[in-house]
Amino acid sequence: MSTIPTATISRLVTYLRILGQLESVGVKKTSSDHLAEEAQVSAFQVRKDLAYFGRFGTRGAGYSVPTLRRELSRILGLTRPWNVAIVGMGHLGHALAGYSSFEQYDFSFSLKAFFDKDPAKVGRKVLDTEIRHPRELPRVVSEKGIDIGFVTVPRAAAQGVADQLVAAGIKGILNFAPTLLNVPNEIHVEPVDFLVGLKRLSFYIQNPQLKEEFA
Ligand code: NAD
Repeated sequence: MSTIPTATISRLVTYLRILGQLESVGVKKTSSDHLAEEAQVSAFQVRKDLAYFGRFGTRGAGYSVPTLRRELSRILGLTRPWNVAIVGMGHLGHALAGYSSFEQYDFSFSLKAFFDKDPAKVGRKVLDTEIRHPRELPRVVSEKGIDIGFVTVPRAAAQGVADQLVAAGIKGILNFAPTLLNVPNEIHVEPVDFLVGLKRLSFYIQNPQLKEEFA
C-alpha cells in the first residue's frame, strides 16, 4: 500500500476550505498558483499534493472550482455522514458539543451521543441528547451507528475509554487526552493537542531564523 504524507492530507483540508470560499463568491475556475498563494505553499506543492489522487484540471486551463471541491470532499470522505460520540462531558466535552460549525457548511460530522461516568452528569441533556453512562456505549454505538469517538477524559482514563470505544465498534478516535493510545491497527487515532502547537510556536519565536517546513 502506498503512503501519503499526513501534511498532504492537512493541506487538502486547506484547499477544500479555499475552494468553498471561492465557490461561495461565484468563482468557477482557479489555478495551482492561486490555491498556492491562498494556502501559503508553492504551486509545485499543490500539484504534488493533488497528484497523489489522480489528475485534476487541464494544463493551462486550471481547475474547475466545483469539480475540484467535489473531488476533494470525496477523497477526504466528506460526502457521507459520520456519526460522532463524545466521551467525557467536562469542560472540553461541553465546549466541543457547543461548537456549532460541526453541522454547518459541508461538515459531515454529526454529534449523536455523549457519555460521562459522573452520576451527577448522567441524564443531563446536551443539545437535546441525554448524557449516558459509558456502560451503555456498546448499545448506543450500535443503535446510532457511531463511527467516531472523541476522547475528552483525563489522561489516566483515556486508554480505558479507547478500549471501550474500540470494543463497541467505532472506526476512529479523535484523542484530546495528552497520552498515546494503543488501539488495533485498523482503528485510526488522530491526536489533538493545542499544547503541541503552543510549544512549536515557542520554538519558532525563539528561533526566528528557522522557517517552518510543511513538507
Ligand atoms: P474535565 O475534568 O472538565 O472533564 C473530564 C470529564 O471526563 C469529567 O466530566 C469526568 O467525569 C469524565 N470522565 C472521567 N473518567 C471517565 C471515564 N472513564 N468515562 C467517561 N467519562 C469519564 O476535564 P477537561 O478540562 O474537559 O479536559 C478533558 C481532557 O482533555 C483532559 O485529558 C485534558 O488534558 C484534555 N485537554 C486537551 C486539550 C487539547 O488541546 N487537546 C485542551 C484541553 C484539555
